[in-house]
Amino acid sequence: MFRAWASELFTIFWVVLVAVIAGRIAEDFGFALWVGTLLYLLHHLVHANRLYVWMRGGRSGRVPAGTGIWEEIYYLIHKLRRRNKRRKKQLIRMLEQFRTATSALPDATVVLGARDEIDWFNESACRLLGLRKSDLGQNIGNLVRYPKFAEHLKNSRDSATVCIPSPVDEAIQLEVRVVPYGEDSRLLIAQDVTQLRFMERVRSDFVANVSHELRTPLTVLKGYMETLNEGGQDLPPSAYRKMVQRMVEQTGRMQSLVDNLLSLTRLESGPPKPAAVVRVPALLERLCKEANVAEANEHTPVRLILDSQVSLLGNEIDLHSAFANLVSNAIKYSRPSDTVTVRWSQEESGAARLDVEDTGPGIPKEHIPRLTERFYRVEIEGCRNKSGTGLGLAIVKHVMSRHDAELLIASELGRGSRFTCLFPSSRVVPGADRGDPE
Ligand code: ADP
Repeated sequence: MFRAWASELFTIFWVVLVAVIAGRIAEDFGFALWVGTLLYLLHHLVHANRLYVWMRGGRSGRVPAGTGIWEEIYYLIHKLRRRNKRRKKQLIRMLEQFRTATSALPDATVVLGARDEIDWFNESACRLLGLRKSDLGQNIGNLVRYPKFAEHLKNSRDSATVCIPSPVDEAIQLEVRVVPYGEDSRLLIAQDVTQLRFMERVRSDFVANVSHELRTPLTVLKGYMETLNEGGQDLPPSAYRKMVQRMVEQTGRMQSLVDNLLSLTRLESGPPKPAAVVRVPALLERLCKEANVAEANEHTPVRLILDSQVSLLGNEIDLHSAFANLVSNAIKYSRPSDTVTVRWSQEESGAARLDVEDTGPGIPKEHIPRLTERFYRVEIEGCRNKSGTGLGLAIVKHVMSRHDAELLIASELGRGSRFTCLFPSSRVVPGADRGDPE
């Protein structure tokens, strides 16, 4: 850079020197300097024009050559061009790598533009969604024509997925997700979940079949055990009575395990039942009355507070099972000195809310997020010998999701727990007067 400026200053020096000598000879220094400056300016104009013509011509061919400061400028342009070429090559290579990688992806990947037109897709999209090169620029909604898919495309959220059959083969099940990126582009990812769904069905069929098959022999076994247990002093010998009692307890536990597994399988894979108006206040009154006199309740009082008389749109059997699970847990994990409060209320937003609150031992914080997992049980001090299946809260969670509701759990060690079912206003039906005929 310094060399270029030095050379430029040298040229100016020569122009001035020549102008001085010529001015001396011609005895007109002003005119000689004027001519020198003009020539110097002309020199720069020629170079500026050369650069302009080269740039207008699309910067093709060699960079023009020059002297002085122009030599430096041309050299910098040449360096910039070389760097840009290298970057372009790098970008093309990366793009090729990206295309090869996405082509190898087993999931269909489609890039959608602002109006859901197809900008790009990989090979799996041809196989799973039946897209062809000629579909580029077409609206995806015109090619994948399922109402569920159209709805999802309109209101998709990052984490939401929709399951649709493949337009190529109805037997192929696709899980579709639409993820926004950049300014207004979206990425559609469709995963073939046929095998996964099949395995899930096999698993739940297996659980349902095993549970169903176990149910009958268990009922018979339990019946005999109870007969033996209640058979008086002679039958069986008194030394065996404790054993038989334990066996009765265990067969009872197995039976509730089988029943719960069957309910869970039905809730997971069965079709949703048609919704009807469920009079929740009446259901809760019945449930709390039963809980207060239940054999399993060692005198923990259950108090019902009805702050609202609203009903729900849903399935009575499922709601009864969920609420009964929450109330029986509250009793089971509390001491006789504790109290259980069941409250039915309506929030300002219109949502209906059931709180089942106890003053029991509470649940350690780290267990709370996992309580609704199947077979997840917590050993709580002071609550030994509480038999359970670990399926109760999993059932509650499924019933809630079938009713578009949320299950919230709050608990503090030593102070108690609160299980809240929050039903959206769309499920709430204005309450009927008490005592209305059913
Ligand atoms: P379980 O058949 O063991 O009661 P659940 O799924 O109903 O199965 O409950 C899972 C675990 O959550 C229980 O093992 C218990 O430790 C804990 N739990 C549930 N409800 C309460 C409650 N009201 N108070 C304390 N712990 C509870």
